[in-house]
Amino acid sequence: MTDDALLALARALDAQDPLARHLSAFAEAPGVDAYLDGNSLGRPLAATPERIAAFVREDWGTRLIRSWDEQWIELPMRLGDRIAEVALGASAGQTVVADSTSVLLYKLIRGAMAHDPGRTEIVIEAGNFPTDRFIADGVAAEVGAVVRRLDPDPVRGVTVEELGDVLSDRTALVVLSQVDYRSGALADMRAITAAVHDAGALVLWDLCHSVGVVPIELDASGVDLAVGCTYKYLNGGPGSPAFAYVRSGLQPSFRQPIHGWWSAADIFAMGPEYAPASGIRQLLSGTPPVLSMLAMQGMLDLIAESGIEAVRAKSVSLTDFAVRAYDELLVPLGVRLLSPRDAARRGGHVTIGHPDFRDVTQRLWADGVIPDFRFPDGIRLGLSPLSTSHEETLRGVLAVRDALAG
Ligand SMILES: *Cc1c(COP(=O)(O)O)cnc(C)c1O
Repeated sequence: MTDDALLALARALDAQDPLARHLSAFAEAPGVDAYLDGNSLGRPLAATPERIAAFVREDWGTRLIRSWDEQWIELPMRLGDRIAEVALGASAGQTVVADSTSVLLYKLIRGAMAHDPGRTEIVIEAGNFPTDRFIADGVAAEVGAVVRRLDPDPVRGVTVEELGDVLSDRTALVVLSQVDYRSGALADMRAITAAVHDAGALVLWDLCHSVGVVPIELDASGVDLAVGCTYKYLNGGPGSPAFAYVRSGLQPSFRQPIHGWWSAADIFAMGPEYAPASGIRQLLSGTPPVLSMLAMQGMLDLIAESGIEAVRAKSVSLTDFAVRAYDELLVPLGVRLLSPRDAARRGGHVTIGHPDFRDVTQRLWADGVIPDFRFPDGIRLGLSPLSTSHEETLRGVLAVRDALAG
């Protein structure tokens, strides 16, 4: 296929895209030709600057400390419920916004290890995101547990069969990512959760690379625990807080380890002893970062308006088109596909590999084409569905081709 034919195809797909009208909802980025890193840092909405300015003027500047009573105290739970409703397939009262993903991983893994002290093993993927592995290792050292590592094919991801080989009556907790941050492999949440439960263990799903792009059914899948980022596909901005989910049936017996005044039954009792809150607020520890919770609210509205199924349909169309462009333009240059070819097994990004990609990425960034580089030689094309067009995707793949060829 010629470049022109690919361009015509991209434009035809954009013309049919029912969500294309939302592209203009995002702030312009002068000098950026293709932003293909929305899976690491989502773009700001055009409305975000005014949202933040109005907050400073009114909620903070005028209502002042009265805003805590009027709206901020409940915000971590209200926003958690909103994420749950729009993107997690979870009913209210199970999700809270707080901390970073790393800190919430600590709270949930530590809490899970205290849940059934007779069980002493944590199962995690050897290739899981570093913070997930490091925190599991740290908790294991703290409580005298053993970490068992799964080492599945990195492009295919974890299967129920492989998991079956390591599960036993010693397994306390299994920590997995729904979408692999490198390959984009999409795990079978429902089947894996059922297998973990058959072994009598708890499961903790990391949703950082799936929330806002892949439909998730936490309640229907029977998931125990989950965490996720809000600065990737939820466009909350750099360092926006994470969210944690604890299944309602588990909450009465679940205790997280960082007991702060915000975890307590009565925040303002100021009493001598700690008593945990009965609901999901127990997951909080200290004062929530209200300012950092603003930007994601606009994105959640946009996803709700679009419908997560439609967002997923566009995501599949974008990643399928990226693979098509890869086949046409990059296979002849010796580039490898490091993501599943079958869209049903893939999340929102496509990873490709070539020994020159470290240098290529530096040149692309200088030219305003922004994918990201993952060691040792992968480029991830992160195609955030609401802010990315097929034509922009093609500009990115053409730029990779030109940088390799030139
Ligand atoms: C992005 C990401 C994180 C990030 O954790 P932070 O505490 O927000 O830095 C953690 N786990 C996975 C799988 C991720 O993709």
